Amino acid sequence: MKRKLRMGMVGGGNDAFIGAVHRIAAFMDGKIELVCGAFSIDPQISKQSGEDLFVAPERVYLNYEEMIEKESLLPDGERMDFVTIVTPNFLHFAPAKLALENGFDVVVEKPMTVSVEEAKELQETVERTGRTLCLTHTYSGYPMVKQAKAMVKEGHFGKIRKIIVEYPQGWLSRLTEREGNAGAAWRADPKRSGKSLVMGDIGTHAAHLAEYVSGLKIEELCADLTTFVEGRLLDDDGSVLLRFENGAKGVLMASQISAGEENAVRIRIYGEKGGLEWANEDPNNLIIKMLDQPRQLYRTGNAYAAPYTLSSFATHNTRIPAGHPEGLLESFANIYRNFTLTVTAKREGRTPTAEQQDFPTVYDGVRGMTFIDTVVKNNEGTEKWTKFVV
Ligand code: NAD
Repeated sequence: MKRKLRMGMVGGGNDAFIGAVHRIAAFMDGKIELVCGAFSIDPQISKQSGEDLFVAPERVYLNYEEMIEKESLLPDGERMDFVTIVTPNFLHFAPAKLALENGFDVVVEKPMTVSVEEAKELQETVERTGRTLCLTHTYSGYPMVKQAKAMVKEGHFGKIRKIIVEYPQGWLSRLTEREGNAGAAWRADPKRSGKSLVMGDIGTHAAHLAEYVSGLKIEELCADLTTFVEGRLLDDDGSVLLRFENGAKGVLMASQISAGEENAVRIRIYGEKGGLEWANEDPNNLIIKMLDQPRQLYRTGNAYAAPYTLSSFATHNTRIPAGHPEGLLESFANIYRNFTLTVTAKREGRTPTAEQQDFPTVYDGVRGMTFIDTVVKNNEGTEKWTKFVV
């Protein structure tokens, strides 16, 4: 394809948080352009957002149904190629399904849907239509997360025994949803957020990171959810014990009342021979701790000699020389770039490389929704362990 991929957006207007981050990430490599959108629930804000983003007025639509219908009727040379969906959780499924059914690829925010049933329906739709769905689990895009995954896979640490993943935030330590914060208001509303606030908003990121880096699937879990803030309708804190498929044990903590914390995502994995540690707030460092050896620090962007050479997955997702910090925006952009490379390869009849296909998909979305469901079921029930069955 000798042109940029054309992107449409559902949500992400001037009244939104993550939509602007998506645009920065999508545009970073110069291979995507924004051509249309239904940017807001409020038509005035949508119109103004389109104007601010230099989108042609006739392609700023009243709602996603109109956008998908009218874009489908445009000639090949103009029509959007894919839709980015950055609305509250309950508004992911319907636009994603409609877009896929009408021949468009999809980038959608997590949690993919608000129920396992919807998630499985999206999986069936992706399989039937042959379209590509990308789920933006942001933390999996970092070069040092890719390096960690590669080292686990090549057996550097031996058989994995223990996985500890944490995602503490402090921004919901008060009743923020009643303080005029629209993002907090829908997140704390079961009708718009889903069954769990903390697990939908950040727990799925942690669960995805644990499975992504370790390469192991969660098989059983035991969960404890709490609502600490009085008046809140959903949980704001959760601790989960995990059992993985190879006998490894894990602990997942997701919390939005960890007062004073920002986005302190951290993962530690230990095998028979050693372990690793990676943290979002220091993302260019990967700490390697081997039994009976001094600690090692792997850093993004270095051309280390063998046996320390960074994996092809880490280097493929690195943009600048070592020492110049890469961060969340680049990690997000890596997800968009791999999605773009995969979509382009498919359209040209080529098989995308493993590096190009390395982004979260509809299958991760189904696992994410199953994770939330299983955590809530275990927390509400009396059994000690609940099976994680997809
Ligand atoms: P937000 O409340 O800031 O923005 C939501 C946007 O959706 C607004 O522009 C709103 O007007 C629009 N909207 C609502 N209903 C709409 C409709 N019917 N049609 C068109 N637009 C509509 O929310 P946010 O914080 O940007 O979160 C959006 C999604 O992104 C959520 O699913 C959230 O979980 C996810 N998110 C992911 C990350 C990440 O790290 N990957 C970070 C933040 C948010």
